[in-house]
Amino acid sequence: MTLGMVILGRQGSGKGTQAVHIAERFQVVHISTGDMLRSAVQEGTELGLKAKSIMDAGGLVTDDVVNGIVAERLAKDDVQNSGFLLDGYPRTVGQATELKQLVGESLKLAINLDVSIEEVTQRMMSRGREDDTPEAIARRLELYEAETAPLIKWFESENILCVIDGLGTEIEVHQRVIEEIERNIG
Ligand code: AMP
Repeated sequence: MTLGMVILGRQGSGKGTQAVHIAERFQVVHISTGDMLRSAVQEGTELGLKAKSIMDAGGLVTDDVVNGIVAERLAKDDVQNSGFLLDGYPRTVGQATELKQLVGESLKLAINLDVSIEEVTQRMMSRGREDDTPEAIARRLELYEAETAPLIKWFESENILCVIDGLGTEIEVHQRVIEEIERNIG
């Protein structure tokens, strides 16, 4: 496994959009746990049935379940050959420690796309996704502060944190992100 990165950011920070650009630019495999879970829900698999009500309520699917699907995905040849960018994972310190166990030194950079709570709330209200009810938005933001924000410190202590201002147009942020990644991974 060559280059491994993760991207963190509140829901609505634009991390999914930026993740697609980053994966393309650095030729790594984009792995979005949200997308994987949404496909499982669509397909009506056992995992999807378990995850659906949690996702609809803006809750977090259990670490065991998410760690399992990520471990399986990381073991595939494309990831082993090209490296990865994880989007939406890890979301808890438990997931981060599991990721470290799984990939060790391959994890080179944690990008925190920084956008304020006020700004992401505005953005989510206007994007109209099916799970973007006001209650689910509030719940996801609350869980982010409680469960995911502590990861920022965790990655900092691992010396791989890179904070990027996520305010601006998609292209402005994209340029900022690429420059920062290049500066950090050389
Ligand atoms: P996302 O597309 O990343 O916003 O994820 C959509 C939903 O999937 C979240 O609100 C969670 O319910 C669930 N989910 C995605 N990734 C994770 C994760 N790493 N841990 C727990 N739940 C997750």
